[in-house]
Amino acid sequence: MSLVDFTDIRMEQRAVAGVTVPVAVVPRIKNQGYLSRILHSLKGLLEGMRLTFGYLVHPSRIVTRQYPENRETLKFPERYRANLKLVYDEKGYHLCGGCKLCEKACPNASIRVLNRKSPITGKIELDRYIWRMDSCTFCNACVLACPSSSLEMGHEFENAVYDRRLLIYNLNRYAGPQAEVMEKLDEETRKQAMEPRDAYGGPVPLAGEELPNIVPVRVDSPGNPASRPGQGSDA
Ligand code: SF4
Ligand code: SF4
Repeated sequence: MSLVDFTDIRMEQRAVAGVTVPVAVVPRIKNQGYLSRILHSLKGLLEGMRLTFGYLVHPSRIVTRQYPENRETLKFPERYRANLKLVYDEKGYHLCGGCKLCEKACPNASIRVLNRKSPITGKIELDRYIWRMDSCTFCNACVLACPSSSLEMGHEFENAVYDRRLLIYNLNRYAGPQAEVMEKLDEETRKQAMEPRDAYGGPVPLAGEELPNIVPVRVDSPGNPASRPGQGSDA
């Protein structure tokens, strides 16, 4: 039982610092008798003990997880969103054709897709897929906007860094054609068509280019990891 009856809260006009403003007036906590307060406390105590013993008897119901001890066995709901990823097929080719629909769909300019003319095929292809984790709100709009299902949300949540500029990085492992174009090339041409990209290479963390107000970070700065988990050089 709550000590405050929230149905009694009423709005009033009151003068505050010489200005009349609407305020919510909350009724004072009702005075309880001594015995009533003891019973109220005991009730709360018993409810807590019932919960604790319930978890003791049925440990499968426990919601709290012992992190980081359980890091290896952590399970996430399928829809949990921790990081944005490019999708690669089983041969390691990305599916992104560089259409920039995700960039347009992003409400806060957290994506920048840089394309280039392929030196091999002569067609437009993905050069760098830059994602700003520091401003991303994980709304999933980019994933939904992609016509070729080239994006997905991952579960890699341990992304803390000491320098927030390191939260801006390339998602693509290589500059080059997407999978459907790769399939039409012979083996040797495919290798030539793929130019490796690491997470912090090129204009990322942007070397002062492309995104405003970002001071360049040297890739070999102390504490600057060579690549992000699940990204870059492990292709
Ligand atoms: S999840 Fe939302 S905020 Fe983040 S990059 Fe995609 S569209 Fe932008
Ligand atoms: S990820 Fe999808 S929407 Fe974004 S540029 Fe690539 S193909 Fe287009």
